[in-house]
Amino acid sequence: MEDLHIHMVLDGVDFRAAIGAHRAHPRDELIRKRLADYAAAGITLLRDGGDAWGVGLRTKELAPEYGIDYRSPAFPIYKSGHYGSFIGIGWADWAEYALLLNRAKALGADFIKLMISGLMDFNQFGVLTQPSLEREEIIRLISMAHDAGFCVMVHCNGTQATLAAVEAGVESVEHGAYLHDEACCALAESDAVWVPTLSTIGNLIGNGRFPDEVLKKILTGAMANVRRVADLGGKIALGSDAGAYCVPHNTGFRTERQWLSRALGENTDAILADGCKTIAQKFQR
Ligand SMILES: [Zn+2]
Repeated sequence: MEDLHIHMVLDGVDFRAAIGAHRAHPRDELIRKRLADYAAAGITLLRDGGDAWGVGLRTKELAPEYGIDYRSPAFPIYKSGHYGSFIGIGWADWAEYALLLNRAKALGADFIKLMISGLMDFNQFGVLTQPSLEREEIIRLISMAHDAGFCVMVHCNGTQATLAAVEAGVESVEHGAYLHDEACCALAESDAVWVPTLSTIGNLIGNGRFPDEVLKKILTGAMANVRRVADLGGKIALGSDAGAYCVPHNTGFRTERQWLSRALGENTDAILADGCKTIAQKFQR
């Protein structure tokens, strides 16, 4: 089994404390415990979203001991002043971005992870925490990563950012909240795999931090889009966003499969197997 979107550095509870534990250096005992739990749960393939402290990279070194194929982007890359500063490394101009691509390559990254939009505001339906990057910017970011020999995973919400990423030939779209039908069609027609991380929404229902009526509305819309993209022949893969708030490691992938199967029905296994195969083939160097 697989989980194609996790954050080893995070714990699903408190991101500041989780990062704090690894800030001085990656803590092998914490990583080994989590890898052992994943192996015991039957996981053989994990793809990390990256972190600025080398936790994912260290995990990649240790994972073979647990029979786990671990893919890492080294660190996520964000535009300074935009979403991503809590976990990634920022760029302010194209020269800085080019240096980050070189740095990721030198560190042994399997692919590049880009932040190109904000987060969902779980208090207000239809609202993202900030505007996405510009279309031209998104296309240039992805093209430069491709030119450097990498496949690209984008943290991306909203129609505009998704259309730009797909236009640039991105290999995987993460989250993808609030997609209009135009974006669903573009995704389905492209070679990109969509990893909708439904757990990041569904797992919050009943938790009390955010209004359930907003969460349910977001989840219903996301599930309808998952179904729509699959019906149009698009690729969907299982990634829970384990480590994100309310998404525990080791069990996150099971819950994600449940959310996805509610959207995909009887074809769930075949669709997810196909999406997984594509990511496993592409997201390595
Ligand atoms: Zn994530």
